Amino acid sequence: MTLHVHPDIAALSPYVPGKPIEELQRELGLTRVIKLASNENALGPSPRAVAVINEGVATLHRYPDGGAFRLRQAIADRWKVSAEQVILGNGSDEILGLLARTFLSPGDEAVMADQTFVIYKMEVMAAHGKAVIIPLVQWRHDLTAMADAITQRTRLLFLCNPNNPTGTMVSAEEVVRLLARIPEHVVVVFDEAYFEYVRSSEFPDSMAYVKQGRNAIVLRTFSKIYGLAGLRIGYGVTTPEIANFLNRVRPPFNANSLAQRAALAALDDDEHVANSRAVNQAGMDQVVNGLRALGFAPIASETNFVYFDVGRDGHGVFDALLRLGVIVRHIEGRMLRVTIGQTEENKIFLAALGQALQAD
Ligand SMILES: *Cc1c(COP(=O)(O)O)cnc(C)c1O
Repeated sequence: MTLHVHPDIAALSPYVPGKPIEELQRELGLTRVIKLASNENALGPSPRAVAVINEGVATLHRYPDGGAFRLRQAIADRWKVSAEQVILGNGSDEILGLLARTFLSPGDEAVMADQTFVIYKMEVMAAHGKAVIIPLVQWRHDLTAMADAITQRTRLLFLCNPNNPTGTMVSAEEVVRLLARIPEHVVVVFDEAYFEYVRSSEFPDSMAYVKQGRNAIVLRTFSKIYGLAGLRIGYGVTTPEIANFLNRVRPPFNANSLAQRAALAALDDDEHVANSRAVNQAGMDQVVNGLRALGFAPIASETNFVYFDVGRDGHGVFDALLRLGVIVRHIEGRMLRVTIGQTEENKIFLAALGQALQAD
């Protein structure tokens, strides 16, 4: 039977996730495998979140609260907005898809950087929109060129801050200048998955732009510093009007009951967040110094990962590391991205990289 697939969907390539540990163990018969590929929390999940999950198990036969009353209220209290401004996603990834479906008619444009989070382009294409791709300058978003790229057809502008995979950020001052040039028909998407790791005092307060009533949405996730990537839960804070439209396409039970429960507990787990930041800072220094000692110049990062030029085909080095039981991410060309792990994992990674370079 002949399939009739929309050409925009046929043109997509499936997202390639970081390789799971068990898959590599199976493929290469390795016992020790270290995964530093998906920017997961080196410390593991929030202990408070883990502690409450069991309480939810007995009621798994029930549908989740589709309105996620408690979690949305807690997020609203945290950011001093109203609960109607909060939307949950099955990971913040899902909200990116809701945005594309809500705002893009065929041929509408969405402005984004190259390189940035690959999901933006996928979701825009799947919604039959047109991705308008603006190269980075010195590994950072080129906000002037992004503003220049806005047309009557532009509906979305994606600002990944700090940016994945580069780890770089744009400052409050730069964002204010950008916003001054953005017409009302464009929704600015502040994807801040690594917000809690940022150290710079220049980082924008993007929630303030939403509170001013701008057409903007701030995306945050429980997958990174809260350590709940496996549960799939993230959120957006936006205007009541935008939230209302997004809720029309949101699947009714997209945030599962265990995820809602765990996220509520994790949100208050300041100790786990503080520990995670501290471990990350120490690990970042360790990895950056180690990379420099190997002769590399890693890009300064505000996140829990670091991006660097290996000076040769990155895929070859990625493969050599895999064979040594270390999973990192090859993004393109000579660039590798490595997530900051615990001290011992970072040490093993650096040693394996040294070894991989000699073998290559
Ligand atoms: C990890 C990540 C997300 C969030 O992913 P979810 O697990 O779907 O919440 C969103 N944006 C960027 C840039 C990320 O790196």
